Amino acid sequence: MIGSDSHFDLNIEPMLHPSMPNPICSVCQSENHRFYIETYAMMHVGKLETYTFNLCQNCESVFLTNPVPENQLGQYYTDAYLPYRGEKAWGKYANFVVWDDRKLNVRRAKMALMHLNQKAEIDVLDIGCGKPDFLAQLAENKNIRTTGIDFTSAQWDDPKYKNLLLLEGDWRNIELNKQFDLITAWHYFEHDYDLKQTVEKCRQLLKPNGILVIEVPMYQGVLQKLQKNHWQGWHSPRHISLFSFKSWKMLFSENNWEIVKHRKHGSMSAFTLWWLGYQEKKNIDWSSSMEKHFWNLVFWKVLLMPLFALERLVPMGIQTIVVRKK
Ligand SMILES: [Zn+2]
Repeated sequence: MIGSDSHFDLNIEPMLHPSMPNPICSVCQSENHRFYIETYAMMHVGKLETYTFNLCQNCESVFLTNPVPENQLGQYYTDAYLPYRGEKAWGKYANFVVWDDRKLNVRRAKMALMHLNQKAEIDVLDIGCGKPDFLAQLAENKNIRTTGIDFTSAQWDDPKYKNLLLLEGDWRNIELNKQFDLITAWHYFEHDYDLKQTVEKCRQLLKPNGILVIEVPMYQGVLQKLQKNHWQGWHSPRHISLFSFKSWKMLFSENNWEIVKHRKHGSMSAFTLWWLGYQEKKNIDWSSSMEKHFWNLVFWKVLLMPLFALERLVPMGIQTIVVRKK
């Protein structure tokens, strides 16, 4: 039972996911870490559970010490989960969301392809492709062959995706009997339960000199410090790892990889994480229509535009890392 000082209803089961007795860093497996922040179940209806992130003293990443067992994660990816509801969640403003997503995917395509040498044909794999609009964007170029993997096909039944190769399941268990010029992972690595295995699988799946592009939240940015446990970069319990630059160097060893670029901004604006965190703090109902929040989003977006124009100069909360297989 929760203690008498709790503000929660005593009849409700608390703390579903207690800390592991001896947690280890999800990035470098070090046992040398200390408490960093406590969060709650975010973008989720019912926020009773608490989640503890620790700061690794070895690789400086922050990791979730009490993750939900991977086979129980489905309860946090229901039909009410905002990213699964896509543009429809925004009601009569859906077209604005489609337009904004298209701009995002144009930026992603540019960022991903800029590090590749000119080739007649390019094979691309997108890990955790979700709603595969990024791949659809790439596939507009006839020389690019695309493959996407996600653990759910919930958002794939649109005719515009019919020419994409989309595979459903745990990407580590899916046999792919080809290699790729480019692997992209837009907001996937922070969810991954076995980073070592994931990095090794990326290495196996890349052609020599192949490129891996990763975008993730960055806890060392300004917004995490401002919003603290409401910052949407935690996205607990779905996010396991928040990476430091040092942790990338440890994950991508010099023997096998060259770090081509580390940007302290991304294709997605850190504004998105800030605004979602702001809504989280207001405790909005994430299962209801977002239509009524649309003008609040526009208001803050316009008001803070001058601030977020500085994202390339001041790390706000998103980072991208580009590595090349040796
Ligand atoms: Zn570590």
